[in-house]
Amino acid sequence: MLIDLRKLLSGTEDELTVSACLDMDKFDDGLNSYEIVSKEPFELKIVKVGKSKLHIICSGSVDMNIPCDRCLKPVLTSVSFDIDDTVEMEENASEDEEPEEKDYIDGYSLDVDRLVFGELLLSMPGKVLCKDDCKGLCPVCGTDLNVTECDCEKESLDPRMSVFKDILNNFKEV
Ligand SMILES: [Zn+2]
Ligand SMILES: [Zn+2]
Repeated sequence: MLIDLRKLLSGTEDELTVSACLDMDKFDDGLNSYEIVSKEPFELKIVKVGKSKLHIICSGSVDMNIPCDRCLKPVLTSVSFDIDDTVEMEENASEDEEPEEKDYIDGYSLDVDRLVFGELLLSMPGKVLCKDDCKGLCPVCGTDLNVTECDCEKESLDPRMSVFKDILNNFKEV
């Protein structure tokens, strides 16, 4: 969704409140692409705070399917965003301050998807688990160990066992 900022910049209006929505159906961070399951329209407020300076305020959340870190099963995850940003629309407006590039401003339009995308990127959870004790997939055959066991020989992750293994290995070397 694009919002025309010309009315604000030309001075006919000082404030703009819109019901904004996202066009994106996928959240693609360049490495992974997550399906967006639901997105509610949210209120976006733009206030003119200077000759060509706009204050942008909005918050909302997006539900997306993120694969479980261990078993890869999609987990419905709500990622929220909270935006409070000031943008200088005019280039070279202030000489002492280098204006920050805002990739969500395109000419005299505000690209809502880009604005929210940048914020979602910062709010993405580091690790998503379908349940705290997810057993994950067998590293050998890929079986979902939450569903069934397999007969593969696994490297034990139990630290006590690895101590035994070290002792055994030392025996072999001697
Ligand atoms: Zn899982
Ligand atoms: Zn296996």
